[in-house]
Amino acid sequence: MKRKKIKKFLKATSFAVIFAICCGIIIQPTENNVVHSVTTSELEEKINELKKQNEDLDNQISQIDADIADSQELQNLAYQKLVNQKEEIDYLNNQIYYKEQDISDKQKAIEDLDDSIKLKEAEIEDKKQQIADLEQQNKENIYKFGQIIRVMYITSNEDVFSVLMGSQDFNDLLIRTELMKNIGEQNERFMNELLASIDDLEEKNRQLADNIVQLQAEQKKLEEEKAELEAEKADLETKCAESKTLQAQYNSDYNTYSTQIADFEAKQDNLEYQKKLNASEVADYEEQIQELIRAAQAAASGDVIYDNGEWLWPLSSKYHLITTYFGYDSWRNGNHSGIDVGNSGINGANIYASKGGEVIVAKQSYVPGYSYGKYVVIDHGDGYSTLYGHCSEVYVSVGQKVNQGEIIAAVGSTGWSTGPHLHFEVRINGVPQNPFNYVSLPG
Ligand SMILES: [Zn+2]
Repeated sequence: MKRKKIKKFLKATSFAVIFAICCGIIIQPTENNVVHSVTTSELEEKINELKKQNEDLDNQISQIDADIADSQELQNLAYQKLVNQKEEIDYLNNQIYYKEQDISDKQKAIEDLDDSIKLKEAEIEDKKQQIADLEQQNKENIYKFGQIIRVMYITSNEDVFSVLMGSQDFNDLLIRTELMKNIGEQNERFMNELLASIDDLEEKNRQLADNIVQLQAEQKKLEEEKAELEAEKADLETKCAESKTLQAQYNSDYNTYSTQIADFEAKQDNLEYQKKLNASEVADYEEQIQELIRAAQAAASGDVIYDNGEWLWPLSSKYHLITTYFGYDSWRNGNHSGIDVGNSGINGANIYASKGGEVIVAKQSYVPGYSYGKYVVIDHGDGYSTLYGHCSEVYVSVGQKVNQGEIIAAVGSTGWSTGPHLHFEVRINGVPQNPFNYVSLPG
């Protein structure tokens, strides 16, 4: 069955241990798999080197902080300029809009004048036609008058004087004279009226022509004003284009600084990561030192480690007084989930990991009089775990990998305990088992 054997003696004189710690002589805390072939002073040296590296990293990070601050200042300036350009562009665009409105108004006025001029020109054409008609009528009148005279006097082969002289009597003369006079006066009146009409029309045409000249002058003035507005608008557009160029430049500056800052931050992240790696290495080395110290302490205490081939007795083999066994306990009037080991003088004794594994509980705080007090649980895989209760000190932390035989805590009387003892449990999938199915009682 279980062949009891003494696996390891870590016996040494206290002088040798103190010598080993002070001089950093190689100490092997466990002999199972990992051999710590380094000394405490070598570890201290590594820790100091890493701490120095981290100081350098801190300096580099601070320097980059300054670089970031510089870039941010420049970026803020670029941003301010960007905002100013945007305001200017908005202002110029407004101005351009108003100019366009003005230009459009001028254009409308010019077109209105065009229409007025065209109307006047049409009126002139109309009047010219009327004048031509009247002149034609006048010509016809003169011709008709001539015809009358011809019919009356010339066709009878007598001239006017003869007609008058040929009057048979005075009365006849008077009649003839009056007749001629009437015809003449009538015709003259009619012709005068025609001439007056023509004069009138010509006068109106002159006025219309004057009007046209006036309108054209007005139009010319408007065209000049419009050209001026267009020049102003072109000027504004040039300024706007310049502003947009600047805006693009400032925008690009802003983005450049963003990239710069991101690069700096990435560098810092890298340095921070390096720092974390170093810190974790430091923690590892510090843990190794603690292990070496505890191993030295184990050696100094003259502990004899005892196992049955697979599981270690969690204490020095000299501590093997069982004060409470696993199972029903009349004193508790209930089941005891492990074994209690309570030799006198056990307080402060080293507690060893019964098997290698990962620490899943490392309770440092506790309520006096209740539960396990300060305690450790190690997960060994395959559903197995061990629990070490009522400790005075816990040396390990959650997540830490421990080797079989590694010192994990010190015996105490914390929690529900009436005196210093180790409460030791073995569990499968959380269910307490009789530890003696796994460990053997030394001696
Ligand atoms: Zn107990």
